[in-house]
Order: sequence, then structure tokens, then C-alpha cells
Amino acid sequence: MEIRSTGNPIHWVRTQIGDKYAELLSEIQRAAITLDLEVFVVGGTVRDWVLGKELKDIDLSVIGDALVLVDEISKTLDITIVKYKKFHTATIKTAEIEIDVVSARSEIYNYGGALPEITLGNLNDDLRRRDFSINAMAISMNTPYEFMDPLKGMTDLDKGIIRILHDQSFIDDPTRLFRMFRYASRFDFAIESETCRTAETAIAENCLTTISKERLTHEMVLILNEPNTDSAVKYLIEFDVLGIPGVYNPLILFSTMKQELKWVALMSMYEKKYYEMFFQKFSLDRQNANAIKEFINLCSILDDNDADLLNEMDIGRMYLLLKGIPRITLDAYVMCNINTDLVKLLQQYMMYTDRVKLNLNGMDLINLGVDKNQISEVIDVLIIKTLKGEISSKSEEELIVVQYVNGLND
Ligand code: ATP
Repeated sequence: MEIRSTGNPIHWVRTQIGDKYAELLSEIQRAAITLDLEVFVVGGTVRDWVLGKELKDIDLSVIGDALVLVDEISKTLDITIVKYKKFHTATIKTAEIEIDVVSARSEIYNYGGALPEITLGNLNDDLRRRDFSINAMAISMNTPYEFMDPLKGMTDLDKGIIRILHDQSFIDDPTRLFRMFRYASRFDFAIESETCRTAETAIAENCLTTISKERLTHEMVLILNEPNTDSAVKYLIEFDVLGIPGVYNPLILFSTMKQELKWVALMSMYEKKYYEMFFQKFSLDRQNANAIKEFINLCSILDDNDADLLNEMDIGRMYLLLKGIPRITLDAYVMCNINTDLVKLLQQYMMYTDRVKLNLNGMDLINLGVDKNQISEVIDVLIIKTLKGEISSKSEEELIVVQYVNGLND
């Protein structure tokens, strides 16, 4: 498909996301005319428009200084603008949408993974510094609203291909590997063969070691939040991006999974002995870090006791081994190890423990003479007896407690 002019991009913004944003863009257009600056709609916005996808955020590129443009807009509009002076970029924030305004620029990476040195430039420079051809198209907001596609992004969009723009791309910025997997899975696009080879070479050269844990974690979070995480994770493992042996498990479905299980599910596709290494690569928030630690703990408990547990199926022993493990960790284990004998046993155990509801509470135990420090021990006794079917009523529980107290007092 060849497009020379799209008409005023404000029209399609209006039809896609409404008058409010179209008005905001009109203000930007007015300010650009006042300052005699040329402004382009670029990047993901053009890509999504061509693909007919819902517009989320809007990317603009200014030939000149974006900060001057946003200063002009802020004279007339009461909106939140966050400026990044070092990079000459700004984000206009509204409740529903963000408009990223960058100064057209070229970028030089002094070493792999570095933040780039920037020099203000023209539109061509700005498109060439981008990640993939499909993200390197522009539409002028100045008449006659020319469509600019010097890197043939439209051809790749038509063919459904992700293509980098030069062979240093992944070395310069290894986060592009993750971006590539996101786009390939989101749009169900193929990765162009030369881009594939370049990615493999960059990965083999350990390009990822040049980026911080925080950036790596951020990219992984974006992958885990994609609607089609499954296919992005498949790429991630098949390209061996993390340098950890693993096998993609198609039975694990991220799309239907609770958010808090996703990191654990991802880790479970790697070999168990490398779980700790996986964990150390990221800088996780407390909730996800705990989920991973609990999962590693459960795996080592099960590994240490696997054969015994299967042979004996002693529910009391299982309870004592697993009582400290959060339910969500057990769920995660079951989800990640579908159909093994141990999982069937765990499922049985979870079914039994789910049914246990003691009639006595901590206060009842104290009233029956149990010392405060012994409460959890007595509760364990009651739960195990209930699990084994030896007791089932309040009076039977009371009898056990009385026996316990007397036994202790003897
Ligand atoms: P998404 O829908 O995932 O947000 P997007 O294309 O809008 O996609 P952004 O991260 O918002 O992605 O980036 C906006 C544009 O900036 C991209 O389309 C791309 O042209 C450029 N860009 C972003 N990150 C990089 C990068 N790491 N290297 C090169 N160009 C990038």
C-alpha cells in the first residue's frame, strides 16, 4: 500500500479517541504554526493508525525543540506537562491519554546499552534512530499532511514483518529484543530473517549484560502485560535471551492467569537449578519477589521429599511439610507442572485441606487451658486429626484439647 497524504491527522484522532484529544492536538498544531515549527505524528501512533488499532498514546516529533512547543501550549491550556530537559522531550498528561512530544534527533550510543547522546536533527535522523521500520513512519501535522516512510515501514506492515534499521540496533539498545518480541506477538508478525540473525548474534555476545536490572525488569513487565504474552514468552525462551536453559511450556497460559502468578509461571519454564539465577537477574517488587521465593522453597521441599510423599501419602506429614506454604504458591505449582503424579497428590491435599474448618478458635483453646505458646501446636494436632477423619465435631475437638492439656500437665 502506498500513502502520500493521510489528510489532517487530527480528523482521525477525532474519530478514534474523541473531540477532547482532537482539540488538544489542534492547540499543538496552532502553537506549531505560531512558532513556525514542523510537527509530525510518528512511531506507534502511525503504525496503529495504519493497522486500524485503537489509539492509546500519541507520539509527536518536532523539528526543533519540543520544549519550546510545550511551553507555548502551556500558555493557553491548563494541562500537566512533564519535561525531560536532558532529552528535549516532554509528556502531556491527561486523565486518559499521554502525548509524548520529542525533539527530532539523532542518537549516538557510545557503548552498548548506554543512554544515547543526542543531537537535534531532522525528521530523517529521527526516523533512523528508531527501533523497527514499522515504528519509523511519520505524518506531518502541517499541510499537506505528507506521509513519510523513508525506511519502508509500510511494506513491512503489509507483509507482517518486524525489521530493525541497522545491524548494531540490538547492541546499542538490547531492550529492543523485548520490544521485538512484544510486537511480533501482539500483531502476530514474523521477525525478518536478517533481524533474527542479528538478534541471535547480539544475544550470543551477551548484549543484555549492558542494561540494568531495572530496565530488564521493566521490559519483562511489559511482556507479561501484553495481551498475547504466551507467544512473546515463547520467543524469549527460544531465543535464549536470558542465557538460562529452559523449554517453553505451551500448557501454561498467561492470558488467563492471575497477574501475581506470571513471574513464577515464567520462571517455571527454566530449569529448576537456575531458578535462583533467574530471580537474581531482576529487580522485583516485594509481592513478586516473595511469590518467587515461596515457589523456590516449595520446589525444594517437594524435591527433598518427593519419593516419600508419593509412597506414603501420609496426609499428616504432608500438612506439616506444606502448612507454611501460601495457597497461591501451591496453585502456581499445580499450574506449572500439570499432570505429574506429585501434582495429583498436591491437588488431593489441597482439596482435603480446603474442607477443614475447625470449630474451636484460639480463644476457645485458651479457655480450655492451652498455653498461649502452644496454640499453633494444638491447632496442628486438631487439623491433622480432622484431615485423617479421626474427629469431625466440636465436642471431639474439645476432647482432644483436654487430653492434650492433661497430657502436658502430667
Ligand atoms: P506501544 O503500543 O507498545 O506503546 P509504541 O510504538 O507507542 O508502542 P513507545 O514505547 O511508546 O512504543 O515508543 C514510541 C516510539 O518511540 C516507538 O514507536 C519507536 O519509534 C520509538 N522507540 C521507543 N523505544 C525505542 C527504543 N528502545 N529504540 C528505538 N526507538 C524506540
